[in-house]
Amino acid sequence: MEIITSHTNADFDSLAAMVAARKIYPDAILVFSGSADASVKQYLKSNADWLKILHLSDINLKEITKIILVDTREIHRLGELGPLIEKPGIEVHVYDHHPTSYRDIVGEKNVIKPIGSAATIFVEIIRERKIPITSQEATLFCAGIYVDTGSLTFATTTAEDAEAAEWLLKQGADLQVVGEYLNRNLTEEQRNLLNALLASLEYKTMEGQSIVIASAEVEEYVEDLAVLVHRLVDRESVSAVFAVVRMGDRIYVVGRSVSPLVNVGEILVEQGGGGHHTAASACIKGTDLKKTKNELLETIDKKIRRRLTLGIEAFERPQRASILKIEDWSTVPNHVIDLLKSIGERASQASINVFVVGGFVRDLLLGVKNLDLDLVVEGDGIAFARLLADQLKGSFFSFEKFGTASVVLPDHLKIDVATARKEFYARPAALPEVAGTSLKQDLIRRDFSINGMAVKLNPPDFGQLIDFFNGQRDLQHGVLRVMHPLSFIDDPTRIFRAVRFEERYHFRMDSHTEKLLKDALREGMIKHLSMERISNEIVLILSEPNPLPAVRRMASLRILSLIHPDLKLSQKTIEIMEALPDAIAKFPSSEIERWIVYAITLLSGLNPSQTNEVLTTLRWSGKEKDKFSILLSDWRKTFQTLQSENPVKPSALSKLLEGLSPEALIFLSSPKSGHTLSRIQQYWSQLHKIDLLVTGKDLVAMGFKPGPDYSRMLEKLKAAQLDGEIKTKEEAKEFLRKSGDHEKTLD
Ligand code: ATP
Repeated sequence: MEIITSHTNADFDSLAAMVAARKIYPDAILVFSGSADASVKQYLKSNADWLKILHLSDINLKEITKIILVDTREIHRLGELGPLIEKPGIEVHVYDHHPTSYRDIVGEKNVIKPIGSAATIFVEIIRERKIPITSQEATLFCAGIYVDTGSLTFATTTAEDAEAAEWLLKQGADLQVVGEYLNRNLTEEQRNLLNALLASLEYKTMEGQSIVIASAEVEEYVEDLAVLVHRLVDRESVSAVFAVVRMGDRIYVVGRSVSPLVNVGEILVEQGGGGHHTAASACIKGTDLKKTKNELLETIDKKIRRRLTLGIEAFERPQRASILKIEDWSTVPNHVIDLLKSIGERASQASINVFVVGGFVRDLLLGVKNLDLDLVVEGDGIAFARLLADQLKGSFFSFEKFGTASVVLPDHLKIDVATARKEFYARPAALPEVAGTSLKQDLIRRDFSINGMAVKLNPPDFGQLIDFFNGQRDLQHGVLRVMHPLSFIDDPTRIFRAVRFEERYHFRMDSHTEKLLKDALREGMIKHLSMERISNEIVLILSEPNPLPAVRRMASLRILSLIHPDLKLSQKTIEIMEALPDAIAKFPSSEIERWIVYAITLLSGLNPSQTNEVLTTLRWSGKEKDKFSILLSDWRKTFQTLQSENPVKPSALSKLLEGLSPEALIFLSSPKSGHTLSRIQQYWSQLHKIDLLVTGKDLVAMGFKPGPDYSRMLEKLKAAQLDGEIKTKEEAKEFLRKSGDHEKTLD
């Protein structure tokens, strides 16, 4: 099954692009990945029969073989469809007009154009192929273009959008209908208020940011001021719009921003309100509109200045390029250095630049061993990886959708290769000397300055460190710094990564990065992540050699309570975690997954039903569930028995601990009290895998019939054997014969 889909909360442009895409992919079904905005819902009411749009619940996701993705290429905007994009066997075609961002989906086919509307991309193809369209379709496509280009007035509008609109008009697009949908749903009061706001617009420029303030006064409350402000933003094409409206005895302030430098959430918090970076509101008791407006202007000015001085700091620093000294390579084995040199030579032969980037460079400069080779190629990364695999006799895997490939060499060393793609919205910034814009664009999309450095591998520049963003300085100062103010908003997994790197290297976020992280948390950004991604990050944190400091940090940032409101880090949990490294060292390491030991400890304060909720939320209820089963039992009682001074028979010990994972046993053994540790060790080394002296075959030979008695008798035999009451096969048979008679009398 082929589907055409777009981002969740579909707007007119995405709807128009989806319908237009069907003209090119006539066999595909239109499916919304999530909900649709109010105007689209309204439109659907009277057009559902010809649009034929399905919802996710109407289709069987397993039948999808091809996804045509329009008006987005960000996985996190696809709701439940997101994970399918990465599934092998599903072909993906992408049509989008948004700026490039970190880890965009790359499909088998990609049509990316920096233009005003996604619908325009399809209208151009439809025109070129001379595919006929109805006037109804022309009207919808035109509405898509008008919505996303503010009726062709936004700065992002291009000649292509205007030409497409012109052509659609010639095909019968009805501008009256378009206008109706653009301004639909407004009540008379809202229309009046919108007009009053439009008549009041004041334009300000603050630190280069264009701000519009609209104000009005009405006696009755008017609903949905935010919707009206949204329209102003669409019309005005400025950095931010604020509306200040007195309704009766209250003043409502709504702000919307499209600029990284204007965080309306942060601004309106000062007016007693709240919200996100891009949308926020406040309600103030009182009637002095002028005073509120002046205070607002002061706050906006103050906050933009603050962002400016702190925020963009890492951007556009002069590039530093210095050759690494021999001693800098001391943590890298010679054969890997030779390999990197030979990769550089091969790249030069292919006339492309190749760099090793990210964690490898960071750890190289820190003197920490790290053989994760992440290469970035200015050129076709997949083709270069294939060439390396051929020449170095390695195996090759490619992930065409992401423009990346991996090569695994015969000695198991893995090399990941990424393509530094050209930025569509490239700025006219001066080109650096040793690396092209595309490398810089690749690095700027990384999380922290310390992870955003590269080392060139081509001769004669082998070993040249490329550090656009002062990563080396931050490494020296032990500072974790984001590349730009919207970093945590763009990708909230960086919140977890920040905590992990801070504690791993004993670094600290600079105060601005920490503030941005806290803002992102306050704005609920973690909720935008899929549970798989959150779970993955938590596993990474718990897999660090000593996860406790990072867990403490998560607790103090209140991240733990986002996983479950009752999840807390108690003193008891801290004590157990402190003892875990010793406890883990006493168990054979191949048998255990360390992160699970820490996860059990972390969750040990929850009751079984809360634990169940967390296991389900974090997707640990599949193959891992058994390992956590201790938390679903009355383990405190088990612990008391283990601790007690009273003798515990081996058979009782075995029964007590039977079925518990080694991870759970380590958790139980970590508080050094009573006989706990020795008993657990006794169970693990002697009791948990004993072979019974008789087998099922022996039982059959003795004339027992298979049935429920069987296992009861074997249980008894096992207990007797564990307690040393039975030592030979003969004794075992004798025991069975006797207890067999006993069972029969019981029946
Ligand atoms: P570790 O040492 O734990 O393996 P790492 O950062 O070295 O961490 P990866 O997580 O594989 O290893 O990431 C490799 C590189 O990719 C990072 O150094 C960083 O440059 C970039 N990166 C990874 N995740 C993100 C992200 N969420 N946002 C931006 N850049 C990222």
